[in-house]
Amino acid sequence: MKLCSIRSSSKGNAILVYTEKTKLLVDCGISGKLAKEGMNQLGLAPELLNGILITHEHQDHIGGVGVMSRRYGLPIFANQRTWDAMESSLGCIEESNKCVFSTEEPFEIGDITVKPFAIPHDAAEPVGYSFVCGEKKLSIATDIGVLEESIFRAVKGSKGILLEANHDRNLLDIGSYPQSLKQRIRGERGHLSNEEAGFAAKFLSKMGTAQIMLGHMSHENNYPLLATQTVENILRDSGIEPGRDLQISIAPRDEISNIMVI
Ligand SMILES: [Zn+2]
Ligand SMILES: [Zn+2]
Repeated sequence: MKLCSIRSSSKGNAILVYTEKTKLLVDCGISGKLAKEGMNQLGLAPELLNGILITHEHQDHIGGVGVMSRRYGLPIFANQRTWDAMESSLGCIEESNKCVFSTEEPFEIGDITVKPFAIPHDAAEPVGYSFVCGEKKLSIATDIGVLEESIFRAVKGSKGILLEANHDRNLLDIGSYPQSLKQRIRGERGHLSNEEAGFAAKFLSKMGTAQIMLGHMSHENNYPLLATQTVENILRDSGIEPGRDLQISIAPRDEISNIMVI
């Protein structure tokens, strides 16, 4: 199973999870054109997608979903409350492409079992996803206000994880965002800081995770190098050697990532 981030940031997210047989797009908060270009760079065509899975209705996750569904006839998978919150902004979607799941119930698409799990974030019913194919498991966990134990339970056993490292706390503090937005980001239904990602990485490593891709970075309040260093310092302080015990990579904000293979 492979994961590749086409784009990952507060401005737009589109993540591919795929096997030989099954190709899934998780969110599409970028234009249809960019999503297609990203897939083409991997030697894949959007026509091959089995569907688009939605984490939540924020624009940086759904901006291009309607276009992709109409252009390539793709089914869209979301829970009911997310459908209710996003449907009016998707434009016209064919009835047969509206797929509803319930957050606690795994479902199959091709040879991948999709396991949504609840996350604390300021949306209707936001989810992260774990994906299982045979013995392999990987997870996507972004847009998380606070690291609840249930999240660790859900992603347990994942060899690879796309994990949010949204902001550096100091950059957010001194940055130009209005106070209300800063509070929203820091809040329990906001986003994970680099430091919080570091603590998560430490626990995930102890639970057997071998690769973490840091993503959903802010353009204003973070830098890839700063995120990596903050996470790696926290790991080293706990006796975990980055590169040897745990691979840390970056989902770039404005280009496609390396491919995570598990
Ligand atoms: Zn987001
Ligand atoms: Zn969000």
